[in-house]
Parts: sequence; C-alpha cells; structure tokens
Amino acid sequence: MGPGRGAWLLAALLAAAPAHAVEVVRISLAEGATEVEVSGPGLTVESLRDGAERRPVPGDRARVRLQGDVITVDGTPVDGAGLAFAAKGSIRCAGRDLSGEVEVRRGRGGLSVIDVLPLEEYVAAVVGGEMPVTFPPEALKAQAVAARTFAVGKKIEAREQALDFDLGSTVLDQVYPGVGRADPRARAAATATAGEVLVKDHRPIEAYFHSACGGRTERGADALGRDLRYLPSVACDRCQGSPAWRWTLRLPAAELGRTAGLPGDATRMTVVRTTSTGRVSRVSVEGGGGRVQLDGVELRRRLGYERLPSLAFTVKAEKGSFVLSGQGRGHGAGMCQWGAAGYAKAGQDYRAILVRYYPGAEIARMY
Ligand SMILES: [Zn+2]
Repeated sequence: MGPGRGAWLLAALLAAAPAHAVEVVRISLAEGATEVEVSGPGLTVESLRDGAERRPVPGDRARVRLQGDVITVDGTPVDGAGLAFAAKGSIRCAGRDLSGEVEVRRGRGGLSVIDVLPLEEYVAAVVGGEMPVTFPPEALKAQAVAARTFAVGKKIEAREQALDFDLGSTVLDQVYPGVGRADPRARAAATATAGEVLVKDHRPIEAYFHSACGGRTERGADALGRDLRYLPSVACDRCQGSPAWRWTLRLPAAELGRTAGLPGDATRMTVVRTTSTGRVSRVSVEGGGGRVQLDGVELRRRLGYERLPSLAFTVKAEKGSFVLSGQGRGHGAGMCQWGAAGYAKAGQDYRAILVRYYPGAEIARMY
C-alpha cells in the first residue's frame, strides 16, 4: 500500500491551518466549570491575548475561577479569552495528568479546560485507553492508525465548524485517560505508524472499532446508522480470545418487565427483527397485561452496555427468567479488537488487519 493518493487532498484540507496544526490536537476535558485547579512542576502561565508574557506560577499551583464574566487566577483578574498553562512535567488538571499546554477558557456556561498536545502523544494515550497494551504490537499499531484517523477526521470537522476544540475525552469520542497511562508499548505503536491515517475518497474514514464481533462484524448502517462502503459486514475468525466471545445473560422476569416499562413481570420475550448478520434489531416483551416493542440498541442502553455485551444473541424462557445466549462485545462495526489481536498473533501485520476490517480504505501518510 504505502502513502496513497488520499494524502494529497488530506494535506490540502489541513493546509489552511496555522503552522504545525496537523501535529497538534485540542481535547476538551471539562466544560461549564466554575473553578479549576491546575498544578505541575515549574508551572507557568500566559494570558490568551496578543503580546502576553509567560510567567511562573508561585507554588506551582493555580486556582482559576469565573466570577461573573471575569476570569481570576488566585483572586487576580486577567484579561483575554483565558489562560494557557505549561509545566516541566505533566500538568494535573480535571482529574488527569496532562501533557503539552492546558488552556482554561471562558466557554459555554463556565470555564472550559482544553489540553493542547502533539497528535502522536494523544494517539499513544488513546491506544493505552482503548486496547490492552498486552495485545501484540501489530494489533496496537492497527489501533493507533484507527485512533489517529478518528482524531484527524474530527479535527477537520472542528475546523469546518470553527470550534475551540477538536475532540472530547470520553467514550463518545475516544477514551483519553491523559498521558499518565501512555504505556511504552502504546507509544511504540504510535511512533511506528506516525502520521498514517485511513482514507477513502480523499477524506479520513470513520474508523469505528469495538471489542469483539464474535465471528462476523456488523454493517455500519445497522450498528450505527452509518451506511459507508468501507464498513460492510466481514467474517472474523480470530476473536475467540475475548472473554465475551460467547456469553450467557440470565434476566429475571421481574427485571425484564421493569426494563421494558411493563406493569408486571415479563412473561414472553421474542426477537421481532434481526439485521443481516443475525443481530437483534427489535424485540417484543409481554407481561402484566401489556406488550412493548423495543429497538435492540435501546434494550442495550437500558440494561447497561456491560450487562448486555452485544446484540448478537438468542433468547429462551427458563423458570422465571430469560436466558440470552450471545457472542461478542460492542456494536460490532469496523475493527474487531480481539480479532486484530488474533490475526496479529497469526502473523498478519497492521496493514493487512486494517484492510480486513475497513475494506476499500487506504493508508495515507500526512507527514
Ligand atoms: Zn471478531
């Protein structure tokens, strides 16, 4: 494969940005705070306005407050849109250890905290947050490319919408635990693939991933409402290592009735509709004289994503409860992480792994 044609347009999309913007990513860590504490060795601060000077913070610790419309640091008002903190080591803020610069800005409904850090450091942290670092190096590299692709796609979106930040830090985007968790193995995966992103039609793809598919991935259209050619259902026969490869959930009739919003215990549960891969897309639950239909994703949300690991299940009634027998964990679209680990163990490299789960996408190098 090698750097593809896609690299050209990608470079053009990002070229309008200030110098080094490609290599930097802005992560929102908190919004609407009234008070933020920042600390770190050799802490310095600079006001976010033209010509501001960077100065040391006494005691290496600062308390930023929003009082009315005015931002104060340890009681002293500052002018400008906010503050940028830096330190000689990691910066402690918003419950995490952060690297790069930490901005505290006046945002919607209070103070916003934004970590501004090198993209590759972010990728390393996300790899460590989203995949066990004990996975084989080629699987970690595949995860690094997927994480970077997601970040660059979001960055382009943020630019188009003129947002203050590129990404959030939770499962809604990608889990960014801060740099404290960046394991050397995750860093090595980021470094080995530096600058590489998956593209299709000259744009970064939506590189969704999940824990384990259980044997067959789900179409993007069915799992997430994203009908994209590079997110078809593909066979995967290497995720047997996942603890959720096969699972059983016993749901008491009373709990299922409650979950479905019925007036009494559930007496019957049937699968009304499945997707092309056999995953549950709609169920019917009866009990207490009522009958309710629920979408599979809604059932999973109500029961909890940990409790009901996936929608690839069958159901049977058994002595006052319902036994769900299923396979895999997660929405099922895109890369299967345990499958990636399995294929890596079998000798495949990260490129082969990525092409398996995102067929038709190519790897482009941004720098
Ligand atoms: Zn799989």
